[in-house]
Amino acid sequence: MATPPVRRLAERLRQVEESRTMRVVASAQRLRAEGRDVVDLGAGEPDFPTPGHIKDAAKRAIDADFTRYTPAAGTPELRDAIADRFLEDFGVQRARNEIIATVGGKQAIFNVLLALVDPGDEVLVTAPYWVTFPQVVNLCGGIPVIVPTDEQSGFRVTAAMLEEKLTSKTSLIVLNTPNNPSGAVIAPSELVRICELAAERRIHVLVDECYQKIVFDELRPHTAAAVPPELRRWVVVAGSLSKTYAMTGWRIGFTIGPEDLIARIVVIQGHETSNPNSVAQAAAVQALSGPQDCVDEMRRQYQLRRDYLVPALNGIPGLSCVLPRGAFYAFASVRRHLNGRFRTSEDFAARLLEESGVAVTPGSGFGTEGYIRLSFAASRTALESAIERLGAFVRGLET
Ligand code: PLP
Repeated sequence: MATPPVRRLAERLRQVEESRTMRVVASAQRLRAEGRDVVDLGAGEPDFPTPGHIKDAAKRAIDADFTRYTPAAGTPELRDAIADRFLEDFGVQRARNEIIATVGGKQAIFNVLLALVDPGDEVLVTAPYWVTFPQVVNLCGGIPVIVPTDEQSGFRVTAAMLEEKLTSKTSLIVLNTPNNPSGAVIAPSELVRICELAAERRIHVLVDECYQKIVFDELRPHTAAAVPPELRRWVVVAGSLSKTYAMTGWRIGFTIGPEDLIARIVVIQGHETSNPNSVAQAAAVQALSGPQDCVDEMRRQYQLRRDYLVPALNGIPGLSCVLPRGAFYAFASVRRHLNGRFRTSEDFAARLLEESGVAVTPGSGFGTEGYIRLSFAASRTALESAIERLGAFVRGLET
């Protein structure tokens, strides 16, 4: 008997789109299953294994039967390990009650929006944006208000740009530094200016620092958790161990914010997921409090790959790419190729995948048409092959 149709879906689902990065991953997988040789620069995750000492901590936790519910906010050990890492890295003292451990950075972000956004509220999101931000705003009944940045300024976000879009309905500003997909980094002084603006207007700023440790050249990691104490009641940081420690599958992230807000978020989380996975929490304590040289080594590798990939992209006719200052993505303009055979970056990416077997993510998914995102969390061999194929594809367009 045929399955009866779903009669009524919740209104909020009308506003929500499938993640376009997931769509690329699915298309690349389909081609691979058909036996095609695909170079996948679509995925947004480290290609390194989780370091051994972190995996060992998880094995010990299993053997010690650390397999029950934990407090909803995460174990005291993990919350303290997060606080200690911020103290050691940035000299900022944040209390255990200002921290909650979450199921990845995604839950950290979702929780904050559930706690702060009412239906009809406007939420400022800078573009290019990580695909999930506007979707989470929509799911919470809010209205994403996009603040575009441009390639000419290196995708720079300023307090003045945000101020222009603030209205009496704005309840939250969402920032992401280092940025996925542009690689732009908001300087510490600009971050403070933005937080001052928010404090003046009595609205919150959520800063997604999922790529906090992956910064290049002379840059050193910084955090909005260390803004001056008088601003902290308006500032919320979402962090993640996924990229920093190559732990995407373990699903551990965290939020740092004012104690009263965190207390409310703990209540939400208690109903949503109870707590993050207990074994993964034990691994996360080890990641944060154990040796950190693995973090620097992975960062060094990303920089070497960036230093190969970005000049190589700029050497392909009609492509241009600003140098990412952090994260592990190159966001390259293909606008000069969008007036002939392709109208959109989605067409471009689809044809590139079909004809040349290179998976990249179209800029439209990040709210910025005319670009493609290439992940350099991939081996040098994969990057070289992608450049060769992309170059041949583009040269084919010009003949
Ligand atoms: N924030 C940004 C900007 C991301 O790119 C990602 C993952 O791709 C996340 C947050 C969420 O990461 P996770 O939920 O794995 O911690």
